[in-house]
Amino acid sequence: MKIYLLIFVLGFFFGKNQVATFRFPESQTTPSPVEPQDQVLYVLPRSDRQAVLLRNITSSFDEMIILWMPDSPEHIEKNKEVHFYVNATIVDEVKSKLKESAITYTILVENTQSLIDQQTYNDTSGQRSTTSYYEQYHALEDMTGKEKTATHAIWIDCGIHAREWVSPAFCLWFVGHAVGFYGTDEYMTNLLKYIDFYILPVMNVDGYQYTWTTNRMWRKNRSKHPNSECYGTDLNRNFDAGWCGPGASRNPCHDTYCGPYPESEPEVAAVANFIRQHKDTIKGYITMHSYSQMVLFPYSYTKEKSKDHDELLRLANKVADGIRVKNRSRYASGAGADTIYLAPGGSDDWVYDLGIKYSFTIELRDKGTYGFLLPPNLIKPTCSEALTGIKIISAHIVKNI
Ligand SMILES: [Zn+2]
Repeated sequence: MKIYLLIFVLGFFFGKNQVATFRFPESQTTPSPVEPQDQVLYVLPRSDRQAVLLRNITSSFDEMIILWMPDSPEHIEKNKEVHFYVNATIVDEVKSKLKESAITYTILVENTQSLIDQQTYNDTSGQRSTTSYYEQYHALEDMTGKEKTATHAIWIDCGIHAREWVSPAFCLWFVGHAVGFYGTDEYMTNLLKYIDFYILPVMNVDGYQYTWTTNRMWRKNRSKHPNSECYGTDLNRNFDAGWCGPGASRNPCHDTYCGPYPESEPEVAAVANFIRQHKDTIKGYITMHSYSQMVLFPYSYTKEKSKDHDELLRLANKVADGIRVKNRSRYASGAGADTIYLAPGGSDDWVYDLGIKYSFTIELRDKGTYGFLLPPNLIKPTCSEALTGIKIISAHIVKNI
């Protein structure tokens, strides 16, 4: 059995001087209900006019409005759900703008601060040997590991996007499960006879750190390039696969900024170099995101089908079926560009074009009830269903090695 934690790959990004000591203060309790709260609003635009208005509203308040779904305003379309986070100071203004335009909204998350408090409570106090350690969210200082060499391996990475906290939580949980239930979980034990796992718990190290210290809604990394005042590149637009085509932004202030050139970001370069060097060993690539409950495969940078489309679709459907039967959760499945929208420069497409056929993106829970603020008590069921999916993909890979 071999499970390699690959935190070392990116370890150099967070030298001691950069590890923040900030903690959400314990006295920071839920504000009283009369105070305005940051909220997450849900809108289903019923016409092209409404879609345009929503695009304008969600892109005109700078960091006071943060789009949760879709990931950039240009993807807002008629009859497609829009979820966005609104800062307390402008909640009323935004709601009246929507009303003026006759756009109906519902409040998805009314009290974001209490959810954030729940998620950050009790961090690092649990021991790793207890189950509950893996059912909490953890700051970076808590995750470590080391490397060896494998023959057949599956790569799993988590935390490309900073605010998708359930993703790194999954990587840790997966390691805990594989180690803790080795010998007990027969299926997993068998798999590990044939295949090793490379696990990168947090690809976007500084972005993730930033969501703990400063801005829970941050998506990108924290790099800064010359000639711009804005921080951050979207790591999942920075891989060299249809780089910066439609679905990415060249504006460094946008959430889907593709960076100045492919692999400009050290995190992306480190991962791409590692996978290039191990491409004969790595038989499968799975990248964990949230939210929306989907099993996606290439391509996302083009609407064209990949040459393995039919096999990948069958496997993705099998994963979704498996999760529905075993875990009673519904996941959609399909090629990225068809299932969500065009998204160039993604890791899964790049890995696929490198020659690693079994390349998947799993969008974890939920579908918008809590969105990025998924409470800790939902980590376990989320991870269980993701494990079902990973077992199905791995078994298929083992059969086809
Ligand atoms: Zn993501």
